[in-house]
Amino acid sequence: MSLGAKRFAKSVAVGAALAAGGTPPPESITRTLLRMMKIGYEPPGVKVVYPGGAPSAACISIDFDATIPERLVPNGTGTSAVLALSERYRIPLTWAMCGRTVEEDWPSYRRIVDSPVRQEVGVHTYSHVDATKVTPEQLKEEVEHCISVLKLPERPKTFVFPWNRVAHFKTIEECGFVAYRDKSRVIGLPKKVQGLWNIPPVWYLDRNSLGAARLIGKVMDLCIASGSVFHLWFHPWSVVEPTPEEFTTEVLEPVFAGMADARDKGRLSILTMGEIGGAMEDGLGRRSG
Ligand SMILES: [Zn+2]
Repeated sequence: MSLGAKRFAKSVAVGAALAAGGTPPPESITRTLLRMMKIGYEPPGVKVVYPGGAPSAACISIDFDATIPERLVPNGTGTSAVLALSERYRIPLTWAMCGRTVEEDWPSYRRIVDSPVRQEVGVHTYSHVDATKVTPEQLKEEVEHCISVLKLPERPKTFVFPWNRVAHFKTIEECGFVAYRDKSRVIGLPKKVQGLWNIPPVWYLDRNSLGAARLIGKVMDLCIASGSVFHLWFHPWSVVEPTPEEFTTEVLEPVFAGMADARDKGRLSILTMGEIGGAMEDGLGRRSG
């Protein structure tokens, strides 16, 4: 089967699982389908009311990191395209900032923090270090260096490990972070891991997502139907191929529009990672049910 045909089959199958009825949808069907897409399925199992009042939540996290010089221009182009959509659909975003990239493209960073729509600024270390290969002291230094570059009015709440390689949780917690994004894709409720709330990713956007907007929409519907968190993530430079316009029209715009529609119908609270982590910390898990 071609990639397009496979995607079509998956989206029909996810649609059928949803149409089979029940909230949450039948677990056996859903779990098998999601396994094909390498997505875990751990729905809350109880009714959850997320901040904003909806029975499900979504967030979008973006790793702002031009780790090779050729990515600096696409990083800026992608940032502009995504901010335009965030502002058009009033969808807040969560940015994981690599301090060095912020220094290299200060105007793009300023556009983010000056946006009229809520943009959470998180940390992705200063020089994109692999946390598993440095000491806790070196990681702390990388975090503090990044924070000093960001010049924020308050300390950031969200940390994204470069390459999602996790280590030294205690250090990250001591730096004041509450939320992070683990590597494994899971549809479910955030879980606390060694003092930090993991807001698990569900879908990564890059050129493999071209032609997959319908499938992504179905996966979002499944998150909504099961009371889970729909967490989308990408890099600004991963959403500009073959051209920024084409990726926006084919993927970003339909996905943002679908999220905004679900929000406007009261089915989805669109939040930042820090807001979700904060709500979990305040007892969202305990209050649910
Ligand atoms: Zn990164």
